[in-house]
Amino acid sequence: AKEAGRGTFRFFDPAMNERAQKRLHLEETLRRALSGNEFELFYQPKICLIDSRYCGMEALIRWRDPELGIVSPADFIPLAEETGLIEPIGNWVLETACAQMRRWADAGRIAGPVAVNVSAKQLNNPDFAAELEAILKRHRLEASCLQLEVTESTVMTDPEMAIEALSKLAALGVTIAIDDFGTGYSSFSYLKRLPIHLLKVDRSFVTDIGISREDDEIVTAIIQVALALKLMVVAEGVETARQAAFLNGLGCHFAQGYLYARPLPVKEFEDLLGA
Ligand code: C2E
Ligand code: CA
Ligand code: CA
Ligand code: CA
Repeated sequence: AKEAGRGTFRFFDPAMNERAQKRLHLEETLRRALSGNEFELFYQPKICLIDSRYCGMEALIRWRDPELGIVSPADFIPLAEETGLIEPIGNWVLETACAQMRRWADAGRIAGPVAVNVSAKQLNNPDFAAELEAILKRHRLEASCLQLEVTESTVMTDPEMAIEALSKLAALGVTIAIDDFGTGYSSFSYLKRLPIHLLKVDRSFVTDIGISREDDEIVTAIIQVALALKLMVVAEGVETARQAAFLNGLGCHFAQGYLYARPLPVKEFEDLLGA
């Protein structure tokens, strides 16, 4: 780097340097968090809109840093994806969610399925399906206990690749949901070919319900697409009874959101379900 400056004017941006350093620091801290067991899974229930009954959950990662407190995944998953740390972190998530399901099954308590978020790097790893199968086997879990959430943008970046990867996973018997649906650029022909079971309507559309007629029509159209494809539909980010009623009226099957519960640590999740 020193030689680069010879004979040229070297532009030094202290802000950039600071950002790069912060990043490097966060990356190191993230590595230590993984080896130091500082991650934790929170669970948010999914509800069946027809009868408001519990019907499964989503596992959402949290990082409990000794100094920073609880760090949101929105603040470290993107970096984990860039640095490749998402693979070991993703494996930790699968492992931890499956171990938890096993404990609940042994105790005759809360039943799944548990939905786990899977990022592009994991999906594109040719060994992913085999690793997943091994984890399920090790915990003596049926594949149907597990649901994988893959974002629409992950799938549509390379649809042919996604179709191949998801087919292997679906063949194991896990169910597959397209997350953040409506925010990407899905083509109907690909949607038809994807071996998926569920579409999750992105929170941004749910939030807009009742704001304007256009917004309501957009949500209506998204759900109609899902139903036309004979897929089950989950709405995320449901915060009001009005949103829930509107979604139920459109034939949306499931909902998830603060109206029912926030993502909760294991103990609180167990208390909430009273099981
Ligand atoms: P996501 O998969 O779309 O998850 C839904 C997010 O919406 C969660 O944020 C959840 O806490 C939040 N949420 C749920 N209900 C409501 C609501 O009623 N109102 C509002 N305002 N928010 C609600 P969270 O837990 O911060 O996760 C953010 C994102 O981080 C997730 O978005 C997902 O993309 C990613 N993420 C979380 N856990 C994992 C993981 O284990 N692996 C990977 N690869 N990504 C993860
Ligand atoms: Ca998700
Ligand atoms: Ca989502
Ligand atoms: Ca979302």
